[in-house]
Amino acid sequence: MSFVTINFEKVKKLVGDKVNIIAVSKTFEYIHIKPLVEIGHKHFGENKVQEAERKWPEVKKYFPDIKLHMIGKLQSNKAKQAVKLFDYIHSLDNLKLANLLSKYETLFNKKRKYFIQVNVANEKQKSGIDKNKLALFYKYCTEELNLKIIGLMCIPPNDGSANVYFKSTMELNESLGLKELSIGMSADFLTAIKYNSTFIRIGSAIFGERS
Ligand SMILES: *Cc1c(COP(=O)(O)O)cnc(C)c1O
Repeated sequence: MSFVTINFEKVKKLVGDKVNIIAVSKTFEYIHIKPLVEIGHKHFGENKVQEAERKWPEVKKYFPDIKLHMIGKLQSNKAKQAVKLFDYIHSLDNLKLANLLSKYETLFNKKRKYFIQVNVANEKQKSGIDKNKLALFYKYCTEELNLKIIGLMCIPPNDGSANVYFKSTMELNESLGLKELSIGMSADFLTAIKYNSTFIRIGSAIFGERS
């Protein structure tokens, strides 16, 4: 077993079978990712469209069950490529982007799965929909644009307060009747699963520190 698969098995043992582990492979080349692909792991996350376009299309041809997740900020001018390449997009965070994603879904005859990113702690530097605008945004995305919104995503502040923000994201998720929840990274995934996370996004705990 490689370093990466050993780390992956450790995470898997901690979280059990009910939680989907997205192996966040951003910055790592395929040579590091390959052992996980070869043991049949399905969910992989990237945060840049261009990097993902360079790394994944060929691999997906050989491993068609792989699901690619866009977890980083998605610029409007990359919406088209994102709809082509990703199965899940976790960073739906504004109206303009929602309109474009819907347009390209129609154009390419594809349906993707989305998480709405919520700015739960109201941080100026972070993207995400404001809690107070969430219900309206959700309604617009589902009813007007027919986007398949499966859950909420948040990135809590990095100050030890994850509990509070995971809890409020879980409650918002429930208030919309959503089934999936994208919370938890390497540092806080055990906390996230206490708040019903269904997709944890794990980078460094699997692949090691990024340079
Ligand atoms: C990089 C990244 C992760 C993974 O971070 P780790 O701390 O390395 O697990 C998760 N979510 C998002 C949005 C990221 O950009």
